[in-house]
Amino acid sequence: MKQERKRKVPFLKSVRAVFRTVRVIFRLDWRNIPSFVLSQVFVTIQPFAALFFSARILDALTTGAPWETVLNWVLGAVTCTYGLYLLERLATSVSAVEGIDLYWRLYQEMSRVMMKADYEELEKPEIGLAVERIERATRMFWYGPWEVPGVLMSFAQGLTITLSALALAWPVFTPAPGGGIPWETILMVAFLVVSAVYSIYSETKLYRMKEENITVLAAPLRLQNFLFNYAHVSLAAKDIRLYAMQDRLSGLLEKTDRKVEELSDARAKLRSFSGGVRGALSQAITCLAYLAVGVRALAGLLTVGSIVQVAGAVTQLAEGVRVLVYSVQHIRMQGPHCQEYLDFIGEGDDPNQYRHQKDGTLPVDLSGDWEIVCENVGFRYPGAKEWALRGLNLRLKKGTHYALVGRNGSGKTTFVKLLCRLYDPTEGRILLNGRDVREYRRDELRRLFAVVFQDFQILALPLGQNVAAASHYDEARVKDCLRQAGALEWAENQPQGLNQPLYEVEEGGVNLSGGEAQKLAIARALYKNAPFVILDEPTAALDPIAESEVYTRFRSMVDQKGALYISHRLSSCRFCDEIAVFEEGKLVQLGSHEALLGQEEGAYARLWHAQAQWYQA
Ligand code: ADP
Repeated sequence: MKQERKRKVPFLKSVRAVFRTVRVIFRLDWRNIPSFVLSQVFVTIQPFAALFFSARILDALTTGAPWETVLNWVLGAVTCTYGLYLLERLATSVSAVEGIDLYWRLYQEMSRVMMKADYEELEKPEIGLAVERIERATRMFWYGPWEVPGVLMSFAQGLTITLSALALAWPVFTPAPGGGIPWETILMVAFLVVSAVYSIYSETKLYRMKEENITVLAAPLRLQNFLFNYAHVSLAAKDIRLYAMQDRLSGLLEKTDRKVEELSDARAKLRSFSGGVRGALSQAITCLAYLAVGVRALAGLLTVGSIVQVAGAVTQLAEGVRVLVYSVQHIRMQGPHCQEYLDFIGEGDDPNQYRHQKDGTLPVDLSGDWEIVCENVGFRYPGAKEWALRGLNLRLKKGTHYALVGRNGSGKTTFVKLLCRLYDPTEGRILLNGRDVREYRRDELRRLFAVVFQDFQILALPLGQNVAAASHYDEARVKDCLRQAGALEWAENQPQGLNQPLYEVEEGGVNLSGGEAQKLAIARALYKNAPFVILDEPTAALDPIAESEVYTRFRSMVDQKGALYISHRLSSCRFCDEIAVFEEGKLVQLGSHEALLGQEEGAYARLWHAQAQWYQA
């Protein structure tokens, strides 16, 4: 699969990526990792503390120590156990809250990057594929920065078990009675080494299997994702039903179902087999530990309490090593996914990988006169062979209304995107009041334009906030804009008026018809009160009466401003001062309706007559 960029990352690079992720998590929320790790340390250390105090109490009882000594050990045990328990609860309660919080914050970082990325970058497939990979790794396999606190928790657990067990089992590694070779200790250490090596072997094998499964399953999982989305997106629901595609779509994954089963069966078998082997080794280690401490106890080198302590601790040693190996493998697994995330949020090698467009420094005077001049502007979409626009020379100025007409794909929308710097020209330049638009501050430049794009979006926010594009707004002005766009009556009929949530993302949200959404988009453009208003096919979803109303009101509203209309209905454009006709990326005619109609062989006259014939009886 071409888009499945298999990222082989060396172990040390993985470790570095995980630690850089820790830095990011720390920046987002400094309490998260300490609370996760400490909660695990406190939980893990509890049985060892209990073992230690039991051994001391047993020793005190069997050696006939004074009752104060016994009491002190008992008090010590109770204080320590409760202390650790309380600390663990405290850390766990913080980590449970922080866990959810972290999840949001890490996602928010991704949204932040996407919101600030160049528009051009968003249209390239790379950013979408990166998001898809990050999401899939998270949802399907629990990989990515979200898992880092958990991985560090396992590592802390493994380390705590190993160190505590070593500390408590220490007497067994001391010389045997008579100073001879402590063969049972040597044998026990040998078994511990075998168990550790086996853990490394089996965890590595499980890790490889999982990595392999991810590669094998990537394509079917993507398909499954699509199908899942089709299943609940109402847009697809109509077509699926009318073309009776339910069974066909459901059946697409049948073969994969079996493959998924085989793969997960194989992993489950290996996991259970390796668990069995480790269990057997652990039993042998325990027997040898009892033997080793028994020999020392008989020689009077160990107390009864120490026997209990050492035997219990040695059994845990193998488990500690296994958890350590498991967590190191996990760090290795998380590495590439953390790296992908870091690259995405700009903490990788290129901090501005989705922001290459240069910003200018000049302010834009929104109140004065303005003139935009296109000088030989040409544009080719990234990766495209054909020019979407070429050799464009055009002058636009305040107080004039323009229409852009031409067949689909002739470059009209591309021209609008260039005007507001969603893209920069591939060749030529666009000047605002004599200076290249790239010299102006981009945010100020964009305040010059209020655009209703063909594929505008109304957001799932309350009605008033949508129109004002802000959370605080002037209600009277919002209503006025709604009235001008022909949507005030509809808005006033909403149960919550301007606070009405839109779309069903929120409870009580209303869905919008195409026409209603378009009117809201027009109201939003009016509220912006920008010097230059651009409507790209603004009335496509409106009925003819609504369209005529919108145009009449709109013309009077934007009378003193600049306005640019893109429409296929030439009758709507005829009242514009200047009509620019585009053909295959070129401006082929410019003039008033009458002047262009007079050029009988021209593109405009052809388009006009082609449309007019449908209205003639
Ligand atoms: P119009 O608005 O006149 O219908 P556009 O400006 O949308 O035309 O498109 C002009 C040309 O650019 C068309 O050939 C179209 O296929 C191409 N085009 C538009 N958008 C993209 C894009 N995001 N990526 C690549 N090519 C595009």
